[in-house]
Amino acid sequence: MRPEILFPLFAPVTALPGVGPRFGKLLERLTGPAVIDLLWHLPDGIIDRSFTPTIKAAPNGAVATIKLTVDAHLKPRHPRQPYRVRCRDETGFLHLVYFHVKGDWLDKLLPVGETRWVSGRMEHFNNEIQITHPDHVLAPDEFARMKPNEPVYGLTSGLPLRTVQKSVDAALARLPALPEWQEPSLLRQRQWMPWAAALAAAHAPGNAAELLPEAPARQRLAYDELLANQLAIALVRAHTKRLPGRSIKGAGTLRQKVLDNLPFSLTASQRQALAEIAGDMASPARMLRLLQGDVGSGKTVVALLAMLDAVEAGAQAALMAPTEILARQHFATLGKLAHASGVEIALLTGREKGRTRDALLQRLADGGIGIAVGTHALFQDDVIFGDLALAVIDEQHRFGVEQRIALSGKGSGVDILVMTATPIPRSLMLTSYGDLDASRLTEKPAGRQKVTTRTLPLDRLDEVIDAARRALEQGARIYWICPLVEESELVDLAAADERAAQLRAIFGERVGLVHGRLKGAEKDRVMAGFATGAIDLLVATTVVEVGVDVPEATVMVVEHAERFGLAQLHQLRGRIGRGDKPSACLLLYAQPLGETAKARLKILRESDDGFRIAEEDLRLRGAGEVLGTRQSGMPELRLADLAAHADLLAVARDDARLALSRDPALESPRGQALRTLLYLFQRDQAVKYLRSG
Ligand code: ADP
Ligand code: MG
Repeated sequence: MRPEILFPLFAPVTALPGVGPRFGKLLERLTGPAVIDLLWHLPDGIIDRSFTPTIKAAPNGAVATIKLTVDAHLKPRHPRQPYRVRCRDETGFLHLVYFHVKGDWLDKLLPVGETRWVSGRMEHFNNEIQITHPDHVLAPDEFARMKPNEPVYGLTSGLPLRTVQKSVDAALARLPALPEWQEPSLLRQRQWMPWAAALAAAHAPGNAAELLPEAPARQRLAYDELLANQLAIALVRAHTKRLPGRSIKGAGTLRQKVLDNLPFSLTASQRQALAEIAGDMASPARMLRLLQGDVGSGKTVVALLAMLDAVEAGAQAALMAPTEILARQHFATLGKLAHASGVEIALLTGREKGRTRDALLQRLADGGIGIAVGTHALFQDDVIFGDLALAVIDEQHRFGVEQRIALSGKGSGVDILVMTATPIPRSLMLTSYGDLDASRLTEKPAGRQKVTTRTLPLDRLDEVIDAARRALEQGARIYWICPLVEESELVDLAAADERAAQLRAIFGERVGLVHGRLKGAEKDRVMAGFATGAIDLLVATTVVEVGVDVPEATVMVVEHAERFGLAQLHQLRGRIGRGDKPSACLLLYAQPLGETAKARLKILRESDDGFRIAEEDLRLRGAGEVLGTRQSGMPELRLADLAAHADLLAVARDDARLALSRDPALESPRGQALRTLLYLFQRDQAVKYLRSG
């Protein structure tokens, strides 16, 4: 349970003085429901109020703070006229201009004959000097209250800057005195201030440098967040490792049968990965391992050989794919590869129904099926395995954490192998899994051909069609990926439909169309047609993005490439260059191209290295988007910036480990403070995993 000392921080924003239901709703939309959410909303700019010139010396357009005497109120004669207040100093006079004034509040704010400090933007207008809606009007004895540097915050419509500033001030004024969770030596070494001081400083930047992620106050806060993150991950991982696992060892006979029948030999990194996986499976602890490999690096064979070990040990294995197409493809591939082993492989997706499904479920339950391949249909409650020992999950980032857990719940101590072609940059991997055991396929299988990548503006579509004609004449097979128009599948479909019709008018019946809305059987028919060559130009929405393997395809056209993410384009491109012929990828873009889009396309032209592309993607887009943070249940970082604070991440990881090894139940004074830190960053779940907690 959340400690009481944190209650004020987790109170709703409306608990703050001056925040009623209306602003409360807007603040909630902007930052989140609680006071702490508002406090994490750091300023992104500064207004300098320290410039205090005379009227005459204040340049047009500058923000100035001027000491004025109020001369006269010039009230509007009709409603559309502004209300003007004439003020002067020893160098001249100016007008304060207000629109839509109701009531007499201006008389009270600016009494005639009195002195006021007024701050706002100077406007020189038809030989007159004015300030429209000044930001501040203060009596001389209130002047000290004005901050020389005023923080500027990201806003949402209807929410004035003043309201955010005041709410933040109110929140800062009621910060509880939290125990220090950081090591004093680290604070000294980095010259970081205590948490509350750092938070206050981050909200009161004195200059532009203090807005940067490298500013000490921001570093301290980012480090707090990273430490909470690493601590939480370490706790969850320790917890899973404590759950009973089992030792699975195969004699290697099934494996050998398959290896003897492969038309190729394994690469060194495939052998290495396999040895690592076999080691984990043989150990009595549960395996949770990531198999990372760029598209086409040969993950499937590795997974199959691992699954055969499970079958040989008398248990079962399952492979789960994110889409139906991919599940079918895996089923077909595995069936061919595993044929020599004699192991029964079955397919279970949403499409298997009625008697077929019942029969399948029966064979799964009695252990007749050695390897089950499927989609999330494998999670359904009535799917019962006789003895599931290994679950392989392909393209993990499309599955939520809960689904992973659901599958591992289908057996006792199920080992989990996650295959991903999206190379996860190391920093992201650390914040989302901690030091997850990972095997990497670093080499491409021998004999792979290079893919040349070109970028072209969309208005040269005619040339692209000509090139497609030449390629088709030489027997090429072509993927033609249609634009991601918007999130709606229907709209995407319209664009794909139209392009397919146009290409069919030119190339005839050899043009096929596949998209997410096609019925399963129809989808299979089109994909099979493309695999056999009956169809040699396949127009597709992004359904082909993951995993499809047609080695004869050598050309990939992507329309509106600027709308796709880098990693996504890299994945798409991975569909070609799989056979023994050179391949070409044409990325078509709409003009004008923004700077980021330009940078992205350039990286793709230059590099074929999935890891480099992923790092660049992270840099260009930010961490959240790379893996679809929310969807995969990964923590969102609010203060830390994985690019700017990468060094802190490594320190936090070591710090978290050390703290837990010294005090596994977090009971010492620092341990107690670290618990508070975990609650502060809402890692309540992780606290539950503490041995005594
Ligand atoms: P990934 O799933 O990593 O994208 P796949 O497992 O689909 O890659 O493999 C891509 C292709 O490469 C498949 O046709 C597969 O049979 C082939 N392949 C796998 N390993 C090797 C290897 N060591 N040598 C040659 N070809 C291989
Ligand atoms: Mg694959």
